Amino acid sequence: MKSMAQEKLSSQQLIDLEDKHGAHNYHPLPVVLAKGEGVYVWDVEGKKYYDFLSAYSAVNQGHCHPKIVKALTDQANTLCLTSRAFYNDVLGVYEKYVTEYFGFDKVLPMNSGAEAVETALKLTRKWAYEKKGIEENEAKIIVCENNFHGRTTTIISFSNDPDARKNFGPYTPGFIKIPYNDINALEEALAQENIAGFMAEPIQGEAGVFVPDEGYLEEARELCKAAGVLFVADEVQTGIARTGKLLAVDHENVKPDILILGKAISGGVYPVSAVFADNEIMEVIKPGEHGSTFGGNPIAAKVAIAALEVVKDEKLAENAQVLGELFRFEINKLVDECDLVKLVRGKGLLNAIVINDTEDSSTAWDICMKLRDNGLLAKPTHGNIIRFAPPLVMTKEELLDCVSIIRNTVLEFLK
Ligand code: PLP
Repeated sequence: MKSMAQEKLSSQQLIDLEDKHGAHNYHPLPVVLAKGEGVYVWDVEGKKYYDFLSAYSAVNQGHCHPKIVKALTDQANTLCLTSRAFYNDVLGVYEKYVTEYFGFDKVLPMNSGAEAVETALKLTRKWAYEKKGIEENEAKIIVCENNFHGRTTTIISFSNDPDARKNFGPYTPGFIKIPYNDINALEEALAQENIAGFMAEPIQGEAGVFVPDEGYLEEARELCKAAGVLFVADEVQTGIARTGKLLAVDHENVKPDILILGKAISGGVYPVSAVFADNEIMEVIKPGEHGSTFGGNPIAAKVAIAALEVVKDEKLAENAQVLGELFRFEINKLVDECDLVKLVRGKGLLNAIVINDTEDSSTAWDICMKLRDNGLLAKPTHGNIIRFAPPLVMTKEELLDCVSIIRNTVLEFLK
């Protein structure tokens, strides 16, 4: 008799297994994927879909990009993990490559996005005590309402999503929340004592792809500079070509003091994240004060170099810029044509549509189910918002094909 591991299980059997043996900390769309290539994924039964989520913008380079997969397998066959107890022959090469790529003196390598955010918060606090002279334990970091920076205890301490917070207290103190895209609120908060930093997403992704007014990031950066406060940009979701530039802050020629990257820095092939800063800031971290067993391991280093080369070689930022314009142009026709879709917003290929229904409705979910049936996978961020973030290796023809799937699905939904 075949063991379960050898048996070919159906989608429903696999969903049932997760339901029974896995924690219910996610609510996936019912589709079970078994293969990916470029902009496509296939389910267990062999049905093909356009991936319009890209693992929350991790798979910008497309599924199973051969160059990135080769970097992974070559390095996996050579040396996987040394920990940072010893040097390895890849990490320094990666650090030189990636710091030149993003224009910072130094990088601190981690694995997940949340870990990188934690790293940035610790770095900001330590800098504030050791360079700015704030009294120990008094530092405050300004963050924005409706932020999403991950799921650790400290990060959820400054979330205002009840699901993320409820019954996970007591919370970490030292954060001041202000409305997003409100420069006056930032100015007021910066006038308070003991401010170490201001951390923000250049576009709020999880909140529903909220693009701030033009000039907000530049003004925020200038205000932080004038106040002697670090400007920390969380580009875990917006970074690596997603919004039509290498970084979303590049749209306003802003250089943050601390840059946080994750997700697509590895093309979604391996968990890699990174925190960047110049020497004056990064030098406050000394041996033993921060780290991770897997952070900066040889596989991660090789995978990230390959993933970042793909971004440049294949001009993914340029493609995201052009296709993003086209996408919003086409979807705006749908907005004009039917009441169900209220608006489309975004930058590059990070977009969302807002459905004309209440936040707690199931309409966005129901549309995503129909999109799935019609061969396109997307996920609501809230009851009435659907994020659209395909891999950046998409062609114009494929994008237009996707637009017609979205259009037909929405129109079908109205019947
Ligand atoms: N920061 C931002 C802006 C994100 O969008 C996310 C995840 O969606 C994170 C941090 C957390 O990343 P991870 O899920 O890899 O911990």
